[in-house]
Amino acid sequence: MAASPAGSNASPQNLRLRRPDDWHVHLRDGALLELVAPATARTFARAIVMPNLSPPITTVAAAVAYGARIRAALPEGSRFTPLLTAYLTDTIAAEEIERGHREGVFTACKLYPAHATTNAAAGVTDLARIEAVLTAMERIGMPLLIHGEVTDAEIDIFDREAVFIERHLAPLLVRHPGLKVVLEHITTAESVAFVRQAGPNLAATITPHHLHINRNAMFQGGLRPNFYCLPVAKRERHRLALRQAATSGEPCFFLGTDSAPHPRSAKESACGCAGIYNAPHALESYAEVFEQEGALERLEGFASLHGPAFYGLPLNEGTITLVREPHTVPPRLHGQGEGGAATDLVPFHAGQVLQWRLAEEG
Ligand SMILES: [Zn+2]
Repeated sequence: MAASPAGSNASPQNLRLRRPDDWHVHLRDGALLELVAPATARTFARAIVMPNLSPPITTVAAAVAYGARIRAALPEGSRFTPLLTAYLTDTIAAEEIERGHREGVFTACKLYPAHATTNAAAGVTDLARIEAVLTAMERIGMPLLIHGEVTDAEIDIFDREAVFIERHLAPLLVRHPGLKVVLEHITTAESVAFVRQAGPNLAATITPHHLHINRNAMFQGGLRPNFYCLPVAKRERHRLALRQAATSGEPCFFLGTDSAPHPRSAKESACGCAGIYNAPHALESYAEVFEQEGALERLEGFASLHGPAFYGLPLNEGTITLVREPHTVPPRLHGQGEGGAATDLVPFHAGQVLQWRLAEEG
């Protein structure tokens, strides 16, 4: 990573990084896909695209068709590569997963405990039911990506991640010591500690929003549905632990935005959807955190190096440049929704000033 002016590391004016990847994003489908895919493709070379469409991506054929729809939604000349994932269900066949991996269609599998989040109704009800799939994945070196929350209504929503680790993740890693697992969008100090001690086959992604907000953000001066996501933001001590982990330079932590757009009408409602749309300024948002933590020189590892190393994929060629140029994030992004109707998205950092801006490719 190059910082200038040369020799000054106090307050660089621009940062050049190897082109980064997003290891966890929701690109949705249809009109919403067309609206959001360019934002991810603008910054990232590749992204692990979540399969929780309606219906979810459970077959190689469905993934191939989705990949084509994503490519069709990209701007002319975009070199962005979507890395597709299979949505695990109680009945998915190991042969389908293996074939998808062999044919280069499925990069990984996503485990949603049933009903954990948006479009997760068909998720796995009991890990024992996918034992054959997990055994195959372990054998072929295919990563398992986990939404790590129990769905038991008796467990407090703020404790669901910690209880998942104890009840399900720890025993899973004992049963499948060779399985590569990514605990997605971690939100607690307990998750940070668990991932650190677990060894090289467990990693975690961290979102920009969990580095910026704690749970109070949802209730500041009134109910703020645009800060509601799953896993829900936790106490301040957890946010601080996440910031320390992300900026530590440890290879087990890497970038995954969990950018999860919903139309404003679905967020600002009596039963608002979970998800924060951060794709338009995700890297700028992370850069803000790394600078505040005095760790700008570690941003490249988090954004561009640790993820490919874990997945066993080549590093990207080329670089991107962030320029110090304070700018205000628009309060709303306007686009067309289903059937051409106007739709708004509220981006993360809406109305706030960010210090870094991604320079256009020259
Ligand atoms: Zn997600």
